Amino acid sequence: MRFGRNYSINNLLLVHAQKREAIWTEGFSAWKTKYRRFVQKGEKGILIFAPVPVKAKRENADRDCSGHLEQVEPETAFVLFKPVYVWDYSQTRGDRVAVIENMLEKRNDVKRRLYATTGENLNHFSEAMIGLIRDKGIGITHQDLGSAGGMARGKTIYIDQAVAPGHDLGLLIHEFAHIMLDHTDREADRIDAELEAELTVGLVKSGLGLDIQPQAAYLYNWSRDVTPGLREEKFMEAFKYSQPLANEILNHLNTAIAADDEAETNTIIAA
Ligand SMILES: [Zn+2]
Repeated sequence: MRFGRNYSINNLLLVHAQKREAIWTEGFSAWKTKYRRFVQKGEKGILIFAPVPVKAKRENADRDCSGHLEQVEPETAFVLFKPVYVWDYSQTRGDRVAVIENMLEKRNDVKRRLYATTGENLNHFSEAMIGLIRDKGIGITHQDLGSAGGMARGKTIYIDQAVAPGHDLGLLIHEFAHIMLDHTDREADRIDAELEAELTVGLVKSGLGLDIQPQAAYLYNWSRDVTPGLREEKFMEAFKYSQPLANEILNHLNTAIAADDEAETNTIIAA
């Protein structure tokens, strides 16, 4: 993802959560004035938080009537974050923007190459993961989750309906971890719960030789507000829970894939 402005990691994650395919976002009027493009009717805006510098007024200083030469303090400025909506290129129509079209083409190229090598396998992994989830008596429901990709409640995993099969592996593992590690029942600290769930995803994906960049970003985002002295402890604690679960998932996935491969080979031989 690249954007017209410099987005904070928080905003990048916000955009990604709301519109996975976003490539370039701008505000409503910026599209019009800078690119001569128009947001299409009915397109939902993507919510981000824009920093707004605020200058504190010095009213009191101005009303000082003591006659003394007062020391003028510099205006204190602070930053407020105000919610604003932006729209992705794909949600607008109008003049072609060459630089964005090129980015889209490059990304599609990368996707095509990725699909050729791992796309099919990822689908396999997702299917095997769904098998494990069902084995544990956990239900899976697809519905519109708004800004979230996945959710766990009780013994049900919710996956956003926009997430394509084969692209849901990380979400399935993450929500599965929330349930298996009892986050939905025990009142687990939110940061602990997210670290444990996403560490599980990272361990499984790296065990399968898959890209774990999204996991790194997620873990970074959840741990950056933790006091530095406590961070290591929190991660060690999270590893304790996520490692055995990740091993269980990995074993299941590898066994399921191996069984599938064998079945396939037998079919080919039989044919
Ligand atoms: Zn979570």
